[in-house]
Amino acid sequence: MTEEPQAQLPDANGHFGPYGGMFVPETLMTALQDLEREYRAARKDPAFRKELAALLGDFCGRPTSLYLAERLTEKLGGAKIYLKREDLLHTGAHKINNAIGQILLARRMGKTRIIAETGAGQHGVATATAAARFGFECVIYMGAVDMERQALNVARMRFLGAKVVGVTAGQATLKEAINEAMRDWVTNVRSTHYILGSALGSHPYPMIVRDFHRVIGDETRRQILQREERLPDRLVACVGGGSNAIGFFYPFLGDESVKMTGVEAGGDGIVRGRHAARFQGGKLGVLQGTKTWLLADADGQIELTHSVSAGLDYAAVGPEHSYYRDRGRIEYDFATDSEALAAFRLLAEVEGIIPALETAHAVAHIIKVAPGMPKDAILIANLSGRGDKDVSQAAEILLKDATK
Ligand SMILES: *Cc1c(COP(=O)(O)O)cnc(C)c1O
Repeated sequence: MTEEPQAQLPDANGHFGPYGGMFVPETLMTALQDLEREYRAARKDPAFRKELAALLGDFCGRPTSLYLAERLTEKLGGAKIYLKREDLLHTGAHKINNAIGQILLARRMGKTRIIAETGAGQHGVATATAAARFGFECVIYMGAVDMERQALNVARMRFLGAKVVGVTAGQATLKEAINEAMRDWVTNVRSTHYILGSALGSHPYPMIVRDFHRVIGDETRRQILQREERLPDRLVACVGGGSNAIGFFYPFLGDESVKMTGVEAGGDGIVRGRHAARFQGGKLGVLQGTKTWLLADADGQIELTHSVSAGLDYAAVGPEHSYYRDRGRIEYDFATDSEALAAFRLLAEVEGIIPALETAHAVAHIIKVAPGMPKDAILIANLSGRGDKDVSQAAEILLKDATK
């Protein structure tokens, strides 16, 4: 096992240094404390761990492969590139790792109803899938704008038996969907568990979501050691709330030689209101339960965000990322919409893999850095999800001119 100097985080109050915490209405404090207690008990319970492992294996398709991208490596002419294939999981992205973990917690707590927010719809689909598998009532809140750009996922959720509630307030994207889910939870907290979809929000969610996704990094570590008999030089993952990235990075945090880069959404470039790169022009603030880096104006009002990928289009980043950024342990860069779209195309053409547009931001970063790395260096990107959900949106942008 890795040495884990960070194993103590978050602290007893849910803080990662100055970040994190529990900034929620009083009515939710008991529910959050119950959730933390139940989670800590479940984590130590062999029966819980066994059931989770069996579901991740037989139902979700773990372990996912670690794939050597030979043609991409050759084309970029630098580091040897591996892809951790979370895109091959059931429902098409890493999100199911967390949804399955949390549904088992909900059952332990005797809840009968599940709610969730969703941006790109991947977390909604994962949650609706888990709810169907366990026979729970399920309500998914989704911004009206996102419902339009992710119509396929809306249909999937409905087929899975979930009720999808459109949210028209504000920018009608992920932030507003979270507000509605929180409102529902306050009202129905006795019967309902809120399956939060990223390493975000009030304690204990950032910890729970990270822990349910660390299977990505644990497998990667095992697989690369078996394959190359050494650790990788660099890890790359896209960062929306930060769940696929923290799950992938976490087991390597104690390995000083392993550099890590999180890639945020640069949208149309770093211009106010036109991107979602919190570490570029963001500031410290509180949003939806947690203290972290976010995009706000001088009065603290949350700014508009933009990204071609709905799953990265959120004004705050998970608090643990803010902590490791301060310490210089994880670096953060961004990729613009057009860089992500170019990466989306390149991976499809060269490797036969159509990535999610979120994931394409990580691929865009590889395209930038791999050529400058030595040929014996090892770079691993987390392929957080597949692009089926984004094909019609990408086609509208990229295939307008059929001769292209
Ligand atoms: C939701 C999603 C993301 C962004 O969420 P994180 O919590 O930052 O991982 C990235 N990739 C895919 C495929 C997603 O569905």
